[in-house]
Amino acid sequence: MREKMPKAKMEWCYYNHDGKMEPLNIQNIEKEDYEAIYKGKLSCIEGCEARIKFTQRINGKKFLSTWNKEGEKHNPDNCPYHINYKGIIGRKNLIEKQEKVKFSEEQVMESLKRKIRNLQIEFNGEDLPKDKANTNRVKNTGEGEEVSITDDESGLNGTGASKGRITYIQAETINGVYHRHYRGVVGEVDNIQYGYTNGEFWAYINLKNRYNRTNVYFPESYYEGNEFRLDELKRVLDILKIKKEKNSEKIVIGCYGQIKLKEGTLNDFNINIINPKHIIVNGSTMNEIHNTGIIKSFE
Ligand SMILES: [Zn+2]
Repeated sequence: MREKMPKAKMEWCYYNHDGKMEPLNIQNIEKEDYEAIYKGKLSCIEGCEARIKFTQRINGKKFLSTWNKEGEKHNPDNCPYHINYKGIIGRKNLIEKQEKVKFSEEQVMESLKRKIRNLQIEFNGEDLPKDKANTNRVKNTGEGEEVSITDDESGLNGTGASKGRITYIQAETINGVYHRHYRGVVGEVDNIQYGYTNGEFWAYINLKNRYNRTNVYFPESYYEGNEFRLDELKRVLDILKIKKEKNSEKIVIGCYGQIKLKEGTLNDFNINIINPKHIIVNGSTMNEIHNTGIIKSFE
């Protein structure tokens, strides 16, 4: 069966704003501003060296693309804009490459903990430790702005035939480019939904997003074959719901899974979480939340 691939348009880039890297969405670039403000200061949202240019057709359509001859300056390991991954075949090759890498649940959990810890450090305005465990290719001082942290390979060797790393993106920057990609994703909780349809359980944590819909989704494989897991998940979601509804505290999720465009939609994406160790909430694990009833504060 041939699967339809969604549109893969570059919609985000980094704007080097006096040394501070700010994620910028194409919708927020005006043609007049491009020449005066942004030209030469835009680079790949994946944190690559490749520079990005903006064009607008006469019909008003806006485009972001890689500067001429810089297609190889995108990271060949994971950047979907690298010259090798152009077109449907290229995109599928990158997905296949990612599918070959398998991390143990402990490796994923360790990576998520590191990621959240670094976000907290940044959020609190402290300097990031010069820890060799993280190569922070693009550093931002803004609140949770940083998008692509690459874990050092020494800490995270894939257990499969090929080595791999977990790279992170912000929920808001997810679009069709990432369909079927395995990624670490960080985002802020907006609301929690779960229920049954025709006797089948479903659960989502919707992440804040001004552009698309991004949901942390718990497919059957999360709890399948383990009767306690479903009850545990529901309890954790209830705790999360109460915390979210009671106050406006910031709740940050770090998770790892396959991103998929929801069938029949144009911009509704699920991040499929298939293991309780593939998600962390403000630094608390699902297990900790379940056992203590407490979600740590993000700060
Ligand atoms: Zn790139």
